[in-house]
Amino acid sequence: MAGAELIGNEEMKEVMDVLETGVFMRYGFDKERKGIFKVKQFEEEFAQYCGSTYALGVTSGSSALKVALAAMGVGPGDEVIVPAFTFVATWEAVLEVGAIPVMGDIDATLNLDPADIERKLTPYTKAVIPVHMCGAMAHIDQIVAVAKKHNLLVLEDNAQGCGGSFKGRKLGTFGDMGIFSFDYYKTITTGEGGMVLTDNKEYAWRADEYHDHGHDHNPAVTRAMEGRHILGFNYRMNELQGALGLAQLRKLDTVCAEQVKNKTKIKGFLSRVKEVGLREIPDPAGDTATFLAFNLPTEELAAKFQKSLAAGGVDTVCFKANKWHYAPNWEHMMARSTANPKQYPFTDPSYRGKVIYDRKDIPQAEDLLGRTLVMGISVKMTDERIAQIKAAVEKAAQEL
Ligand SMILES: *Cc1c(COP(=O)(O)O)cnc(C)c1O
Repeated sequence: MAGAELIGNEEMKEVMDVLETGVFMRYGFDKERKGIFKVKQFEEEFAQYCGSTYALGVTSGSSALKVALAAMGVGPGDEVIVPAFTFVATWEAVLEVGAIPVMGDIDATLNLDPADIERKLTPYTKAVIPVHMCGAMAHIDQIVAVAKKHNLLVLEDNAQGCGGSFKGRKLGTFGDMGIFSFDYYKTITTGEGGMVLTDNKEYAWRADEYHDHGHDHNPAVTRAMEGRHILGFNYRMNELQGALGLAQLRKLDTVCAEQVKNKTKIKGFLSRVKEVGLREIPDPAGDTATFLAFNLPTEELAAKFQKSLAAGGVDTVCFKANKWHYAPNWEHMMARSTANPKQYPFTDPSYRGKVIYDRKDIPQAEDLLGRTLVMGISVKMTDERIAQIKAAVEKAAQEL
């Protein structure tokens, strides 16, 4: 549960600053707000933490994905390569801007396989969305290199890897744009919330306008007199979220460091089980350690191991069976059942491609996810809990 485990006086103080002014909106009310701009400050501190030029707070990770795609001009007629293993929001965002998601395979990192991008390319491919699943990085350098070679945009979905890095550079800053989620499950939380990062000035202003009905946020005039260039919608983060974000961001390094300590202990005894293999992590120093993913030689053995662990009080997830994180399991997506009766954008006449969703096109995901088990790592894990996990692992190993 990460940052949610550490809610305390720091969050209360930041939120109280906002409650004392009574101004919950990030824009306007200049007299009443008494100089308090929590969302703006959160954006500035978040951009600095990540080493990025521009940051924009939004209502969720899902809306962050949509805002970023809209800012880059991805839309009708375009295909976007998205890994089969991700939360459904990554795919939904592509459909929301009128583009078509194409199912990408994963590699031993459990993230998008750079080699699969070229296999899934068509004349309509416009962008690729690598996702850093379960707290650790994809081969992001290779993905960016392949994308550049083919002139594709890269949007990094770093909803699950906030605070993580690859070779010293923060995840979310490798692509043309990057996004984060601060929902209640994520590494740091604002209840609901998200962030969009970019170094590109044009994408930054387009995201800024799009997320607030087109407002150009010209400081020289009042809000009611502001200009605009593009139509948008409302994805504004509010001041209470900004306040929570500030307090949580200051705890992010502690969250990751404590999780690393706990994960290291568990890995120690888990890796002594000879049938167990560990997920590939391209740069272990940049792991947020939110999850520990490991695999067994076959699906049958993984299911057996999972059952024994559960009997010992240790729950794990097998994502091939999960309803929300594996594309072939989304019956509504496979049926192209969008919310409009015309099944837009799948039926959009400007879309010339012929996307197909077939498990045969993601052989590595089908193999790996079926025999991979994922264990959640908490910030606070007592010695008793670690000992319980150790006992469960040792018993499960005997029962294999
Ligand atoms: C959580 C998540 C999202 C969506 O974030 P919300 O803030 O819940 O909307 C997007 N992508 C991935 C990979 C996620 O895990």
